[in-house]
Amino acid sequence: MVTITHCETRDVRFPTSLDKTGSDAMNAAGDYSAAYCILHTDGSHSGHGMTFTIGRGNEIVCQAISQLALRVQNKSLDSLVADWGKTWRYLVSDSQLRWIGPEKGVIHLALGAVVNAIWDLWAKVLQKPVWRIVAEMSPEEFVRCIDFRYITDAITPEEAIKILKESEQGKADRIKDAETNRAVPAYTTSAGWLGYGQEKMKGLLEETLKNGYKHFKLKVGSSVEEDRTRLSIARSVIGYDRGNILMVDANQVWSVPEAISYMKQLAEFKPWFIEEPTSPDDVFGHKAIREALKPLGIGVATGEMCQNRVIFKQLLQQGAIDICQIDACRMGGVNEVLAVLLMAKKFNVPIVPHSGGVGLPEYTQHLSTIDYVVVSGKLSVLEYVDHLHEHFLHPSSVKEGYYVTPVEPGYSVEMKADSMNKYEFPGKDDVSWWRSGEARPILEGERI
Ligand SMILES: [Mg+2]
Repeated sequence: MVTITHCETRDVRFPTSLDKTGSDAMNAAGDYSAAYCILHTDGSHSGHGMTFTIGRGNEIVCQAISQLALRVQNKSLDSLVADWGKTWRYLVSDSQLRWIGPEKGVIHLALGAVVNAIWDLWAKVLQKPVWRIVAEMSPEEFVRCIDFRYITDAITPEEAIKILKESEQGKADRIKDAETNRAVPAYTTSAGWLGYGQEKMKGLLEETLKNGYKHFKLKVGSSVEEDRTRLSIARSVIGYDRGNILMVDANQVWSVPEAISYMKQLAEFKPWFIEEPTSPDDVFGHKAIREALKPLGIGVATGEMCQNRVIFKQLLQQGAIDICQIDACRMGGVNEVLAVLLMAKKFNVPIVPHSGGVGLPEYTQHLSTIDYVVVSGKLSVLEYVDHLHEHFLHPSSVKEGYYVTPVEPGYSVEMKADSMNKYEFPGKDDVSWWRSGEARPILEGERI
């Protein structure tokens, strides 16, 4: 039996703002960061979970992780995973910490890290990748992972079991697809960051097209004129009639009427969807945008800043989205994501996870595999950004346009010790990059 002895947190930040990787209309200069929860045990394994931020404030999430992780200290792994739904409810039920949520914001980001660290530990003990643990569950076991409070008006445990039983048809073949790296087609955002110049963008599009990608996403929202120029260049590379799909992402910069009028001016470039057109909390706003853009053939996507299963429930119930973009660690880890996968299946909305950040593709490759194999039974696409994978022990990768299905035990976000030390913030003298002269432009520059 494995018992969790204590939690260590690590604040790891990569200086991506220097070359504008990750830049969009709302987030001009992010430093891709990970707030780590490392659960140490009395055995040989430790559980690694992280949540993603883009720099400043990462230390606040680390503090929240330390507070939340006290709830699993001195607990056996067996007792935590025996009734996962109950454990998840217990983790959100510290009555004082709940006040600074509930189930949203920093405390929920921290929950994502802690819950995912438990899954990582469990998977390492079982010697399986996380997706396979879920793929081998019975429908009843899957459903027991979920805290159904607040969502039974959309889906009940009984309905969920029925859905999962129906999806068992063809599951054995889909597991084979996963084993042969054909479960999760990838799309790329690597070329699309707003801060990249036109030449760089064009070069990256040509390169990713050559590498087998068929879906390409570009950031928009700085100005209609500039976006029209960038989208023209993109379409000149990928064409209109070669089966290549273009998507655009505004990262919440618009009001509802602005989103509608702006997107009408980009309609000729035929984007599949507009992502995050407005505030992530605005269920009815998304619905209004969706209805206005439907005649133009443009869908609405959101989810990377959707704070919990309740907002996803409303987006789905109201018919406000065409695409459901779950995030692996903004919500409370695997368990809450499973709830949203089920609701999306019920409302017949495809899952296209958010993956633009350090560690996110490592996580979401498991979630998309679970969605395909166990829940939806349908191929979808998953974002892949080709940045910072070299820091992970088991980096995600894409081959021939598909994610290579993870086979190593765990949840794939364990970072190399050297990388953690080198990019620790504020870090140690002579070890951390953040103590070097190269960091000065970020540390002493204007905060934008
Ligand atoms: Mg986005």
